[in-house]
Amino acid sequence: MSDTIFGKIANGEISADIVYEDENLVAFRDLHPQAPTHILVIPRKPIPTLNAVQPEDAELIGKLFLAAAKIAEQEGIARSGYRTLINCNAAAGQTVYHLHLHILGGRQMQWPPG
Ligand code: 5GP
Repeated sequence: MSDTIFGKIANGEISADIVYEDENLVAFRDLHPQAPTHILVIPRKPIPTLNAVQPEDAELIGKLFLAAAKIAEQEGIARSGYRTLINCNAAAGQTVYHLHLHILGGRQMQWPPG
């Protein structure tokens, strides 16, 4: 299950513009940014969708959000504001089946999202 594009980025097989990494997570810039700052945070563990998250992943998911806040600070968008989101399955527009948290910032976001 680690052979998605994001699994390959996590293990270094494919290059990406990495902004943060540790033993559990990797964060890198989206190839097709939808905002001036668009970063994806992924667990190294290849969880395909939010639906597949298990109780034992609770700490890992918490770390994903803690890293997002730290990255937002690092990117200078923490005060102005930013959006985090996880697309789950086709109707939400998920295209890569390795769980990822989007961080979008640097412009005014709209609501409701498309
Ligand atoms: P999803 O639609 O699954 O929530 O988001 C997948 C995101 O991954 C998209 O925003 C897309 O632009 C990005 N993406 C797809 N392939 C690559 C890649 O090879 N490298 C990087 N950095 N981003 C990618």
